[in-house]
Amino acid sequence: MMAQYQALKAQAEGCLLFYRMGDFFELFFDDAKTAAQVLDIALTSRGEHDGAPVPMCGVPVHSAEGYLARLIKAGCRVAIAEQTESPDEARKARGSKALVNRDIVRFVTAGTLTEEALLEPRRANVLAAVCEVRGTCGVAQVDISTGRMELEECSAGDLASVLARLAPSETVAPDEWDDAPADVIPRPRGDFASDGGTARLCRVHGVATLDGFGQFSRAMLAAAGGLIAYLEHAGRGKLPLLLPPVAHESGGTLAMDAATRASLEIVESSQGGRAGSLLATIDRCVTGAGARQLAADLSAPLTVRAAIEERLALVAWLHDDPLLRTDLRAALRSLPDVGRALGRVVAGRGSPRDLGQLRDGLGEARRIRDHLGSRADRPALLDALMPDLGGHGALTDLFDRALVPSPPTERSQGGYIAEGYDAALDDLRRTSGSARRAIAALEGKYRAETGIAALKIRHNGVLGYFIEVPARAADALMAPDSGFTHRQTMAGAVRFNSLSLHEEASRIAEAGGHALAAEEAHFEELVGEAVAAREAIARTAAALARIDVAASHAERGAEGGWARPALSDEPVLQVEGGRHPVVEAALASRGERFVANDCTLAPNDRLWLIGGPNMGGKSTFLRQNALIVLLAQAGSFVPASSATVGLTDRLFSRVGASDNLARGRSTFMVEMVETAAILSQATERSFVILDEVGRGTSTYDGLALAWAVAEAVHETNRSRCLFATHYHELARLAETCDALSLHHVRAREWKGDLVLLHELAKGPADRSYGLAVARLAGVPQRVVSRAKAVLDKLEKGRAQTGGLAAGLGDLPLFAAAAEAEEEQCDTLRERLQAVDVDALTPREALEVLYELKREAGSSEA
Ligand code: ATP
Repeated sequence: MMAQYQALKAQAEGCLLFYRMGDFFELFFDDAKTAAQVLDIALTSRGEHDGAPVPMCGVPVHSAEGYLARLIKAGCRVAIAEQTESPDEARKARGSKALVNRDIVRFVTAGTLTEEALLEPRRANVLAAVCEVRGTCGVAQVDISTGRMELEECSAGDLASVLARLAPSETVAPDEWDDAPADVIPRPRGDFASDGGTARLCRVHGVATLDGFGQFSRAMLAAAGGLIAYLEHAGRGKLPLLLPPVAHESGGTLAMDAATRASLEIVESSQGGRAGSLLATIDRCVTGAGARQLAADLSAPLTVRAAIEERLALVAWLHDDPLLRTDLRAALRSLPDVGRALGRVVAGRGSPRDLGQLRDGLGEARRIRDHLGSRADRPALLDALMPDLGGHGALTDLFDRALVPSPPTERSQGGYIAEGYDAALDDLRRTSGSARRAIAALEGKYRAETGIAALKIRHNGVLGYFIEVPARAADALMAPDSGFTHRQTMAGAVRFNSLSLHEEASRIAEAGGHALAAEEAHFEELVGEAVAAREAIARTAAALARIDVAASHAERGAEGGWARPALSDEPVLQVEGGRHPVVEAALASRGERFVANDCTLAPNDRLWLIGGPNMGGKSTFLRQNALIVLLAQAGSFVPASSATVGLTDRLFSRVGASDNLARGRSTFMVEMVETAAILSQATERSFVILDEVGRGTSTYDGLALAWAVAEAVHETNRSRCLFATHYHELARLAETCDALSLHHVRAREWKGDLVLLHELAKGPADRSYGLAVARLAGVPQRVVSRAKAVLDKLEKGRAQTGGLAAGLGDLPLFAAAAEAEEEQCDTLRERLQAVDVDALTPREALEVLYELKREAGSSEA
């Protein structure tokens, strides 16, 4: 057995091996240790291998799904080795001690799941394959739970951004690729070849050429090849649902890199997880498929005006008609997850319940179509979706007739094919029915004949049907000519058989077996019908998801008093009464009000420098405007009383010195790497928010960098930009940069307390409020007083040297002052070190102390 195990383990390629033994999947050696730890189950041992006990743990087959889910979540991959013959077959073939044959039937990995229990309903599950062909990267992605497949290419530099957009749960790449992204699963190089990819795609879709699907580059095809090869490997040759590939237009979506996505907390908050993200705040979808589409939309907003307008028109239509919207959402809410049910059916893991879901979902889609079809004022996008909602009449009629109203997930008991669908099946069922009735009648008859009122006919899994009488009454039935044959004596009861009972029982068993086989055959036919219609069904699922997303935007817009954004080809951003949806919702839950703010960026006023106190709302203002751009281009209403959004090609968001120790770079290094990316990529059509860039280093370096970056964005990139900073000195930029203006968030000190107004106003910040904020935050009064003293002194020094406010030319002067201070510190340190404390009398020591103090020039205690 160990030899067989080791051979399978070698094929498992780094996956945990689930080794089927009877009713359990067993794991051995290191696999057992890993699984026991992740699953928190007992680690035992069994036998010996190389003189040591073999660590082992196991999970019951019937509850394996739950354990699999936890292992996958923990980042494991699992190979399932099943018994491919029964112990009986093994014995017959190879003798009484024969080992049952086993084989890996499937690999379960994060990217290749289809099981309902293992998937999150509102989250897409993306498997990606990446490779490089002559300097260009190809990316293939598929959500195999729904079969959606997309191919794209990008430069090596953009690969990380593309992967950040897709957020795959698993990524494969050719082995021996030095520049492969982190955390990829290496696969044989040969799988990633463009001609092999073409051949695989043609084979999957039964076509001779891919021309009908669109134009694909060699890099795209190579990635597709690697992806399909991996799926073949994972499914052991059995492929899941794959829809025809779609070429992703790289210019068609708003480019955002990983740092921007993270900082805007689009689909995930900075704490990780959906809660607190933009997605969670705006998601009003009533179906899982809608929620997945919404997440995809927010991850890849559009840049093509006509496409955005189409989406917005549908949202507006649903927004303006609350009754229609309510009806529609009620209808959508009852929908099963058609796309995922189809995914399971095509992957060969479908159940009668999945077929029932297809029937119900497609039927509901038709009703939705009929309902919307009665409206004359349909927007164009809806019109385009209408045909996709129908066209399944024959299939749903068939499923309607064939299936019971709520089919079970299990096939083994039968009972899912409806009455009236198959006369022969009905006959078989009638036979069992009449036999059952006959048995019930027998009971009465035997009672009357024997006079034993307690006689019963019962059934169990071991004996089948039998007659049972109390032990004291059994004698009468024991007589050889009684017509009963003894089967079993229990404590207090004796069990018998009779010829008639045996006959009826056989009728039931035989008819039951035939009926099961008939249902099985019908199941296969129905699956075949669904598989044949898979593309049309997938289109229906996609159309329903698209409508759900539009209804969600309409609902959210109505709920929050949001506005339909106007789009412009000019690089402008005109927001009146803008709000941050996530902050606003958080405040509302505490009963606080969000202060709305305007933003008016245009070519002649494209960079806003924003100052003001900490906690004043600068970051919030920056982000809310970036989110408004993002939402508008995703086709959503926006949290503002009105907004005109100039179409944006790239969105950048940077926060100075964010903590990123986990990635192993210093925070300042990260900040600068990210800033470099903006300076090299942002265009006149981009929108950039920079939040306290330059914060992560010494004051002077930071100020100098912030100054230069702001200047560069203004002069070279010419992007729309909101720039929050604490450096008052940057205000001087307004003198030389003509399209830069100064703004601040307002605050007031009232009776010694700081009042943050969260209101944006024109002009530079009048002063800083750092100390007031520190007090607000509960920093002890003596520390705040001390800081105040230090500040006064610093400011005096600044006044004496002319200070930075006199212009950049003064930097050396200011720096010289700092240098002098440094020097003084060094002298003091040297003096201190020169003191031989042991050689001093107490009095001398006191004198040294006074002296040092004088030198330090401090008059404070
Ligand atoms: P820092 O300089 O410390 O980064 P900041 O000026 O960027 O601070 P934010 O982080 O944007 O300030 O905001 C701080 C808090 O103030 C928010 O968490 C929110 O509770 C509140 N706030 C921000 N903007 C508003 C607003 N427009 N209306 C009401 N409350 C707001």
